[in-house]
Amino acid sequence: MRVEIEMLGSGTSAGVPMIGCECWVCRSPNPRNKRLRASVLFRVVKDGSERRILVDVTPDVRLQALRSGFTSVDAVLITHTHADHCHGLDDLRAIYWGGGKKPIDLYGYPESVASLRQTFAYIFDEDYDYKGIARINTHVFEHEPFRVAGLTVTPIPVVHGNMRVAGFRIGDAAYITDTNLVPESSIELLKGVKLLVLDALRRAPHPTHMSLPQALEVARQAGVERVFFTHINHDLEHESINSTLPPFARLGYDMLRASVEEDGSVKVHDIEPSGLPPIVALR
Ligand SMILES: [Zn+2]
Ligand SMILES: [Zn+2]
Ligand SMILES: [Zn+2]
Repeated sequence: MRVEIEMLGSGTSAGVPMIGCECWVCRSPNPRNKRLRASVLFRVVKDGSERRILVDVTPDVRLQALRSGFTSVDAVLITHTHADHCHGLDDLRAIYWGGGKKPIDLYGYPESVASLRQTFAYIFDEDYDYKGIARINTHVFEHEPFRVAGLTVTPIPVVHGNMRVAGFRIGDAAYITDTNLVPESSIELLKGVKLLVLDALRRAPHPTHMSLPQALEVARQAGVERVFFTHINHDLEHESINSTLPPFARLGYDMLRASVEEDGSVKVHDIEPSGLPPIVALR
């Protein structure tokens, strides 16, 4: 099995650049400082076929799908239902059409599914008579690993202020966003993970997100081979912060792809900034 994580977005809730901000990172011409809202696509090749598992449906999901080039997914996993992670849900309709109008399987904690059913009541209303919407089948999980599209997904619970958030492990790759605390029991679930994409908002502590030093410590405790940080705000300039990090850790960036290959090696498929499509040249 080969597990690739594609970072569809590496930015915090307001994105980078942030509307109205004139700081040097928001004004940076470097495409790696342009961050859509945080999301990843797991591309898993097993038995010769690729399964695409989308994690979260951000307000930027349309741009993210166009930029990445995927037109359908095998499933959607929800970390939690904050607006920056789920309020692109309506845009799943084009991905539903791309998948041949096969209902999309969506997995979340029970409270996440309940919240989506309330926020997007029309999508889940069988009697809603406008047909241009996605059909979504919801599924819930708790602590046990569950099967999605022939793959085993292990939920990794983490703390995000007063709520829980689900991280996800597939094979030896894992994604954890929006957390100020990864409990010891969840560090255990990360043991053996080689590639981790992990929340690191900024340099200073924050009540609901990890700081860069905290995230580095979690990655060290878990013993991962490579870590890329995500959910990054405009405090962290890509090149200058990267030059301060140990070799196994880097700031992630939009469109970065990294994988755990069949033989267990970790590969990073770096994209040169000049090779990024024009859609990221926001200003
Ligand atoms: Zn968030
Ligand atoms: Zn700024
Ligand atoms: Zn959040």
